[in-house]
Amino acid sequence: MMNGGLRALEERVFDRDLCVSCGACVSLCPYLRSWQGRIVKLDECDLAEGRCFNYCPRGKVDLNELHQRLFGGPYKEIEMGMVRSVLMARACDSVWAGRVQNGGVVSALTDLAIKEGVIDAAVLTDREVNLLPRGHIVSGREDIMACTGSIYTSGPTLEALNRGPWTGDERIGIVGLPCMVLALAKMRTSSLEKRTPIDRVDLVIGLFCTWALDYKSFMGFLQKRFGDRTIGKVDITPPPERIMKITAGDELHDIPLDEIRSFIRPGCHVCPDMTSEFSDISVGTVEGEEGWNTVLVRTERGEELVKRAEAKGVIESQPLPGDKLSHLKEASLLKKRRAIDALKDRGELEDGYLTLSRELIQQIQSESKEAP
Ligand SMILES: Cc1cc2nc3c(=O)[nH]c(=O)nc-3n(C[C@H](O)[C@H](O)[C@H](O)COP(=O)(O)OP(=O)(O)OC[C@H]3O[C@@H](n4cnc5c(N)ncnc54)[C@H](O)[C@@H]3O)c2cc1C
Repeated sequence: MMNGGLRALEERVFDRDLCVSCGACVSLCPYLRSWQGRIVKLDECDLAEGRCFNYCPRGKVDLNELHQRLFGGPYKEIEMGMVRSVLMARACDSVWAGRVQNGGVVSALTDLAIKEGVIDAAVLTDREVNLLPRGHIVSGREDIMACTGSIYTSGPTLEALNRGPWTGDERIGIVGLPCMVLALAKMRTSSLEKRTPIDRVDLVIGLFCTWALDYKSFMGFLQKRFGDRTIGKVDITPPPERIMKITAGDELHDIPLDEIRSFIRPGCHVCPDMTSEFSDISVGTVEGEEGWNTVLVRTERGEELVKRAEAKGVIESQPLPGDKLSHLKEASLLKKRRAIDALKDRGELEDGYLTLSRELIQQIQSESKEAP
């Protein structure tokens, strides 16, 4: 597959406004930095091949090739990728209550994985200030608690993986958005010499994500509306309501999603992955069931951790009701369809970042249904 270096990253990702600010290209070389939720180029680099473009989730992505290499078979589970089991779960320990976004499964599993020595540390995301996300390396419960909740702006979490500090022996876990999980898959399979501890990443927990907002423009909007009040918890209600509930200072405010759609990163519109398909475990909300998570278990190590968490009473689980599973599959497939449509509108379906066979494209188009 054609790859490239910083020039390709600039021409094919930055200039096309496809960067999602995942941070996969930062802290690998002196030329790229993150600033205010954006990745900025500081200088030129003539390398024909670079990790920056190689790892970029909007660089070249051949879903079938990645799937073959990571899961040992062709990409054919078009709804949500490879899934071993699906459940609905929540954390049992009351210590997570009131802090976590939904059921706290992500934080509780991260906590258990560290406690049990499955991993020594994890790369999570916290807020630098207001809603500016940054990667945070944690190795204990207190730090995990500082990272609970969803930040709906995108930020360079993976920079922390690249930067460390690491001693060189730690087994690492990561929680990330689908774009980040895709970047990790590209890091794992890249033939370039690794300058990031991806080979010691032993656990990837992927979040569900429909889109993320651009930090700078969204913050501009919030500042106009709420002045310099501190932004607290942000949540998004499911359809048909579709409202962002946001705590500014001490007050809870409703913002209809239509008012903030223009702040969605363009790179999210071409993303086909709602459920972090290259993770060990994927976690999202359960629509209409407050305080619960939908959990997709994808790999053996993901399964081991979830079973251990159930056995130790760290999480409690039950089957996800059939209607909720069908709805999740529809939403996931719809994100793929929209990505294909967006690439087509941009004239990038043939020579864009995403390689999907004609048969898969047709299957996605024919099987997806537009939401009411
Ligand atoms: C931008 C975004 C969009 C989302 N869209 C959907 C959606 O469409 N449908 C759905 O079902 N769920 C979505 N989610 C996931 C959902 O909000 C919860 O993160 C998930 O259900 C886990 O809940 P929890 O209670 O286990 O999380 P917690 O235990 O509270 O843990 C939250 C974890 O999320 C990580 N995190 C928070 N913000 C970010 C970020 N910006 N980038 C990377 N990691 C982050 C933190 O490090 C923490 O580990 C989205 C999350 C984000 C951040």
